[in-house]
Amino acid sequence: MSGRKTFPSGGIELASRKSLSRGSAIRNALIPPIATVPLLQHLGTQALCLVKPGDRVEEGMAIGGASGPISARVHSPIPGVVTEIAEVTLASGQRSLAVRIELDGSFSRFQARGWPSLGPDLPAEEIVALLADGGVVGLGGALLPSHLKLSIPKGEPVDVLVVNAVECEPYLTGDYRLLVEKPRELAEGIRLAARVCRPKEIILALDQSSDHAIEALAAAAAQAGCPISAIGLRSKYPQGDEKQLLKALIGREIPPGETPLAVGAIVVNVATVYALFEAVVLRKPLFERVVTVSGGAVRSPANLKVRFGTPIGSLIEECGGLKTVPKRIVAGGPFIGHTVLDLSTPVTKGVSGVVALTAGEVHEGTRTPCIGCGRCIEVCPMGLNPIRLLKQVEHSLGAEALEAGLLDCKECGCCSYVCPARVPLVEGLRLGKRAARSAEAVR
Ligand code: SF4
Ligand code: SF4
Repeated sequence: MSGRKTFPSGGIELASRKSLSRGSAIRNALIPPIATVPLLQHLGTQALCLVKPGDRVEEGMAIGGASGPISARVHSPIPGVVTEIAEVTLASGQRSLAVRIELDGSFSRFQARGWPSLGPDLPAEEIVALLADGGVVGLGGALLPSHLKLSIPKGEPVDVLVVNAVECEPYLTGDYRLLVEKPRELAEGIRLAARVCRPKEIILALDQSSDHAIEALAAAAAQAGCPISAIGLRSKYPQGDEKQLLKALIGREIPPGETPLAVGAIVVNVATVYALFEAVVLRKPLFERVVTVSGGAVRSPANLKVRFGTPIGSLIEECGGLKTVPKRIVAGGPFIGHTVLDLSTPVTKGVSGVVALTAGEVHEGTRTPCIGCGRCIEVCPMGLNPIRLLKQVEHSLGAEALEAGLLDCKECGCCSYVCPARVPLVEGLRLGKRAARSAEAVR
């Protein structure tokens, strides 16, 4: 394994707080008696509703069909009867139609399935088609439908396939648990992804604290005929971001507005690799994922395999409930995640964690005037000037902000975190980006 690489500029070193849930083996969450399944769980357009109230659905049956060039199928997480199609608010704040299903019927559909031998020759097109059928999307946060990411245009060489297991957000440990508990499945998923993109090299990227998880996966990958190099990166946030990851691993910089393919790379999150394995090998669509339930306010943090449509509040209950009143509950990690305003909000494909933070764990305070210390500039991994951008956004200087790289902001939150004046930099820049995109859309 190589030394401790990391991206060259910006970023912050954090207390990871992962020890709260790291030792907790993945266990199945309780099956929700009613699942509220949003049809928008991916990047792109909402899936088309394929069912109506009164319809009986089976576990894993498609209830939403992909609509438009960027979209993904949605499947029923439980067997039952559709009771309602209603609009709900997602953890991200977006609105979506959702299919409400009342539990009824049997779970025999996927439980008895073994691991069929596929042989090495499943065609790449068939793998991509199975990903589309299974509604697999990037589970690292991007939510891009995986069949699109892996539809590599002819003539575009892939030098390196990066399996991203860095999981740089504090508290989250679901990817780590997959590495530890599912090496054979991940190795098979990596082999299948490599069949599609035919890379010259496969790199498993993980945090240095996960070094001990490498051996079993590397051995399983070698046995599956797709040797990987594992690189334990220095613990630094946001090391898991594709842009920072490729800088650290291969020294290549993704140009603004481009994808990793522009520098000959495909980056796939480790949870997505597991979903790929399930969709292709077990023919099981994506209707559940590993969710870390953690934070200082949760009594017994854990890693749960959760069916989509389960209310966030029931996961907290399942982990012993709250031991103190949380200051903030986040869906996802505390930096990139979204504040949960309603505990009935359903878990979706994009929810990697539910983190209930105490007042002592929340980094916020009253805004005071900027003292010009420059710390926000120092930590910005994108080389931006966050305070200048914020002033441009606040003074409606849209063109100047765009010129200064507003849209390059990854919303990582490093600038807000270090600001001694508690200037809400990332919040302001996020709003500025939204406004710029809406202005672009109406032009
Ligand atoms: S939130 Fe944006 S501006 Fe702030 S540090 Fe991250 S990339 Fe830079
Ligand atoms: S870190 Fe805060 S106080 Fe320092 S320059 Fe940036 S906005 Fe101003």
